[in-house]
Amino acid sequence: MATTPQNALPNLHDYSHAQLLELLDELGQPKFRAKQIEEWIWDKGVSSFDEMTNLPKALRSALAERCTLGGVEQVVCQVSTDGSRKYLLRYGDGVAVECVGMPTGPKLAVCASSQAGCGMGCSFCATGAAGLTRSLTASEIYDQVLHVRDDFGMRVTSVVLMGQGEPFANYDAVLAAMRRLNSPDGMGIGARHITVSTCGVIPQILKFAREPEQFTLAVSLHSAVQKTRNMLMPGVKRWSLLNLYEAMGTYVDMTGRRPTYEYALIRGVNDSEDELQALVDFCRGNLAHVNIIQLNEVPGSRFRPASDARAGEFVRRLEKAGVEATIRISRGADIDAACGQLSQKKRR
Ligand code: SAH
Ligand code: SF4
Repeated sequence: MATTPQNALPNLHDYSHAQLLELLDELGQPKFRAKQIEEWIWDKGVSSFDEMTNLPKALRSALAERCTLGGVEQVVCQVSTDGSRKYLLRYGDGVAVECVGMPTGPKLAVCASSQAGCGMGCSFCATGAAGLTRSLTASEIYDQVLHVRDDFGMRVTSVVLMGQGEPFANYDAVLAAMRRLNSPDGMGIGARHITVSTCGVIPQILKFAREPEQFTLAVSLHSAVQKTRNMLMPGVKRWSLLNLYEAMGTYVDMTGRRPTYEYALIRGVNDSEDELQALVDFCRGNLAHVNIIQLNEVPGSRFRPASDARAGEFVRRLEKAGVEATIRISRGADIDAACGQLSQKKRR
């Protein structure tokens, strides 16, 4: 998409509360206008200043001269037979990301992206294969959730940052988005129902442990054998499994919260007896929940999922060792919305 002169103006969605107060001060406006504007942006999700009907007309045009209200534009929405919907959403500069809405009765879970593409290069992941285009801003992450909420016309009850991208390679924006999702001025989603998933960026795990909110942490483990993990996840090779083990120990000590470990079962790669034993050893005695995910096949990849029987066996053996474990059922597989299948390709 061509850059129009409009795009040169700053996006009001990117303003912090302090920056908004500063702008209103410059315009000779009282402070309470900030709250009104934030409500229009973060709750109602309006796309033009004229819709901000409780603002004086002069203020609406003054704002329109100084900034844009760039939200997201829907390029495609695919609906799965299980009711989930996958969206391709485009930002002002033409960059597009995918996100997914998954309804279950009165509940609506959203899977959002933190980056366009991903630079971590995991060998089993469609996003990894495409490389990183750019990181998203906090409002770009938030706006995905707002879009899904409005499309379903339902309250969002949980958010997982498990779409495209490595959230901890975009830490500040991701945390700001999570805070806004959690805030009563934003979407008011309980912190425990907001989950961030990382491939294991150790310094950021330790930083995250010090954040005051009760957000949920998921770590993509995929193998507790160093050689296998290095092959599957080359982007985190520089941190050993021992580093990860210690960092997670610190995380649990500091927060008292149970982290989730994601483990996508890949036939002949990480589903052997040795791999299972290493996984049990990694988790045993620690506060942990293991999510066994059947690998979703990615076009062009040589990896295949393990058998359902093997997945069941993993769960049984973990539970026998006192480790909480479940098999995660992927939603939206028929529209390529399942884990690791999100890419930027456009389908019609
Ligand atoms: N970058 C983050 C979050 C996004 S990926 C991370 O890696 O944790 C969300 C989850 O999907 C991760 O656990 C990831 O390892 C998993 N995943 C990626 N490709 C997959 C595939 N082909 N099948 C199943 N899960 C996959
Ligand atoms: Fe990136 Fe996560 Fe995919 Fe790895 S699994 S390439 S970290 S999105």
